[in-house]
Parts: sequence; structure tokens; C-alpha cells
Amino acid sequence: MSDDPIKRDGLSPRFWEKKHYSKLNKAEWEALCDGCGKCCLNKLEDPDTGEVALTRVACRLFDDSTCRCSQYDIRHQFVPECIVMTPQNIEEHAYWLPKTCAYYLLWSGQNLYDWHPLISGTPESVHDAGVSMRDATVAEFEVDDDDWENHIIDEPI
Ligand code: SF4
Ligand code: SF4
Repeated sequence: MSDDPIKRDGLSPRFWEKKHYSKLNKAEWEALCDGCGKCCLNKLEDPDTGEVALTRVACRLFDDSTCRCSQYDIRHQFVPECIVMTPQNIEEHAYWLPKTCAYYLLWSGQNLYDWHPLISGTPESVHDAGVSMRDATVAEFEVDDDDWENHIIDEPI
């Protein structure tokens, strides 16, 4: 998994099936992210219904070609509102999380898909499965806020 920017080496095989998500250590928790990039998309929330619509307009730090945050370690200097997902706050955010997000899957009692890099052994499998946003976003600075609704998409799943 040397080409995987997320560290997944040295972890117990299928650890997520053996421990509740709230008992995972930091390395295990971080390794759950599949790199789909869908949480980095801007969303529109209906204030009356609470319904959340996904757009292809990506956060200003999202690198569309790598499907990664371009400044992950220091991202809060630029995007202070970027949410750090934890076992403690996942319930609060579950309503907007992508339905294939590993954190959402475990929180909702489901298992990971076979294309998850922890199972497939390669980060490419999330892109091959067609569930990522690589090469599929538009940059935030190119779209006026009022036009986001013209970029609403269905979640690729
Ligand atoms: S949606 Fe979940 S699995 Fe996908 S990049 Fe975001 S945190 Fe990782
Ligand atoms: S700051 Fe980085 S991790 Fe946070 S939403 Fe933007 S691109 Fe994604």
C-alpha cells in the first residue's frame, strides 16, 4: 500500500469487525477513511426540511486530480470549519455523511465494501468502483455561491 497517502500498514486484519468503532485507536480510525473525497463537497441544506443536497463544488483545498485535501495537516488554518470526524461526534454528523463513507457504514451497523482500501489493498479500488470524486468536481472559486444549486448531484455509490 505504499502509494496510499493514508497509513494502513501494521494494523490488525479486519480490526473494524472485531472492535466497536468507539474502541478503535487513532491509527485504526484514520485508516478507515477510504479517500473517496465526498465529504469535501459543498452541500446545500434546506432550512425547513433539513434535507441535504450534495453538489460537485469542492472545498477550496480539495485537489480534484488526487482526490485529496491539498493541505490536510494544516487545513484548519485555511478552512477552520472543516470537521474532524471522531467516534464521539459521528452521530451528530451522520445525516449528511456520504452513504458509502466508512465512518457512516460502521456507525449505522454496516460493513465496509470490498472496494475499501483496507480490504482491496489498494487506494485505486475506490476510484475503480466509481464511488469517488476524483476528476469529478468543480472548484469552489469558479462557482458563485448562488449557483451551487446548478451543480447538485446524486452521490456516486
Ligand atoms: S466521505 Fe468518509 S471515507 Fe470518504 S473521504 Fe470523507 S471521511 Fe473518508
Ligand atoms: S479542508 Fe481539506 S479535508 Fe476539509 S473539506 Fe476541505 S479539502 Fe476536505
